Amino acid sequence: METMDFARLRIGSGFDLHALSKDPSRRFVLGGIEVAPGGGPIGHSDADVVCHALADALLGSVGLGGIGDHFLDSDPAWSGADSIGLLLRCRTLFECQGFRLINGDATVVLQAPKLAGYRSAMETKLTEILGAPISVKAKSPERVGSLGDSQAVVCMASILAFSTKA
Ligand SMILES: [Zn+2]
Repeated sequence: METMDFARLRIGSGFDLHALSKDPSRRFVLGGIEVAPGGGPIGHSDADVVCHALADALLGSVGLGGIGDHFLDSDPAWSGADSIGLLLRCRTLFECQGFRLINGDATVVLQAPKLAGYRSAMETKLTEILGAPISVKAKSPERVGSLGDSQAVVCMASILAFSTKA
């Protein structure tokens, strides 16, 4: 990449948090992968914090705000919806601005379940949906505070984008 091409780069960051339910019938989906049989995050959609944080990072990188600006959480169309579909819609919004994704990286903070066994499936799914390498890491909140008490799950994400316009 020529030095002047750096002006075509954009960074994006995203953050999401959802409270965790104690409901054994509430799906627990992260990065499009079911990680536990129940007790999942509470939200209007499936409340997949990994998809939501990545979607905000994508939209933010091109100045389109966040998912709340495009998808109303009162819209029945998104009730219980699969957030992988929402992430794909955000990719389209992002690409329509003339940008392409270089890579993305997400960090999930969650006490339980441990995500080591699901990381690779999440990365494969997210990489396929976004068309660029996406990495996912998990951090333990070390039993501190409400995160450590399994009251919530958090995800932070960063992406790098480049403009296809010269
Ligand atoms: Zn969310």
